[in-house]
Amino acid sequence: MAKAVLPPLPYGYNALEPWIDEQTMHLHHDKHHQAYLDNLLKAITGTEFENVDPAKLLSDLVKIPEKIRGIVRNHGGGFVNHSLFWEVMAPKAGGTPTGDLAKALDKAFGGFEAFKEKFAAAAAGQFGSGWAWLVVKHDGSLALYNLPNQDSPLSSGDHPVLGLDVWEHAYYLKYQNRRAEYIANWWNVINWDKVAELYKAARK
Ligand code: MN
Repeated sequence: MAKAVLPPLPYGYNALEPWIDEQTMHLHHDKHHQAYLDNLLKAITGTEFENVDPAKLLSDLVKIPEKIRGIVRNHGGGFVNHSLFWEVMAPKAGGTPTGDLAKALDKAFGGFEAFKEKFAAAAAGQFGSGWAWLVVKHDGSLALYNLPNQDSPLSSGDHPVLGLDVWEHAYYLKYQNRRAEYIANWWNVINWDKVAELYKAARK
């Protein structure tokens, strides 16, 4: 592939109001996400990794030379994680998943409400900056956990299908220290059709 570029938001900056505010979306996408990409490109430009899909770099982190591995992990992770984050949200979304994904959530977590509770606990329980993740494991089953910083589930061989950014930059302007309220409101903007699509693709 060609050099990675910043994907545009798939909706307007104010489209996730009132749950996620316009100013946060501007800063989060245009400044934070852009900076992760810029720092990644600075480290890999002129190397054999320049045109490799950043997701692939994260999957093969052990093959990245030690000198730039930390940058790929942190900034490549930041780039790939946020690219997914914008996609799994949408305006006028939320609700409940359907079809195979709903069945898989029932099987793995004992129902959608139980899943929500466990996922929210993982997001709230991430000490400091990080993400809560819903992933497809090697055997096709679902699992959830939190990871610090911008660590990607791809680096453990898992396929992320839903991620919640709990870095303060994701919510502090609107929610200040109230991370739990941000997490509770976030369910209103989840694009379950997209999550179902990623789930299907990950199991192929
Ligand atoms: Mn973020």
